[in-house]
Amino acid sequence: MLQQNILSKGFIKEVFKSYQGEGKFVGARQIFIRLANCVFNCKGCDTDFSFSENFLCEGTKYRNPISPKDFFQILRKHYDFDLFHSVSITGGEPLIQKDFLRDFLPIMKDSGIKMFLETSGYLVDEIIELSDYFDIISVDIKMKSVFGYGYPANLIRDLKKIDHKVYYKVVISEDIDLKEIKAVFVEMVKNGVDELYIQFINNCLNLDLLDKLSDIGYSYGIKIFFVPQVHKLIGIF
Ligand code: SF4
Repeated sequence: MLQQNILSKGFIKEVFKSYQGEGKFVGARQIFIRLANCVFNCKGCDTDFSFSENFLCEGTKYRNPISPKDFFQILRKHYDFDLFHSVSITGGEPLIQKDFLRDFLPIMKDSGIKMFLETSGYLVDEIIELSDYFDIISVDIKMKSVFGYGYPANLIRDLKKIDHKVYYKVVISEDIDLKEIKAVFVEMVKNGVDELYIQFINNCLNLDLLDKLSDIGYSYGIKIFFVPQVHKLIGIF
């Protein structure tokens, strides 16, 4: 298997243009850069984050691994950045390739386009380390009762220093433990976070459960926003 140990070269899974389908920025027109690799093995994960020798950008094949500068040139060739809201760095868990991102993100930042990170929330130190290069950071709060293991205990507390860039998303199913989500609300209140975006795994909505969570959330002073995975509803990537 290919490994990411070649200087700061990156392993890309795919690059495409589409519209953000989750959370606070639903509908934003974005360039999506999906990086390979994840090590977290969440229950029910259906994302293909495997390493591959090539990746596609708008239908053209390029070889992995790729240097930050070469990758930037490819993006420039395919896209006019002025025609997009932002560039979304997603995965897998993109922060696993932090060495690549450390070199690639400053180049992107210099180009002037907004940078958007979508992360599982498992790598708190890496989020903070690279936060200067991102304008918007979408952080999942993973529920142990849903995914098999939960968010890091220091997640919300440590991200307080960059809270103007961060919004939190929680993906739920009928397996959710109400005690666990109440503990999240307590942690949010303690750290001055008052918004939470909720989606159901595979868009399997349970309205009674959503109402229950909304009641609890609002009783803690947390504004709950239900946002389904819009891209899946309308059949786009
Ligand atoms: S963090 Fe995301 S990509 Fe990684 S295993 Fe969990 S759900 Fe899948």
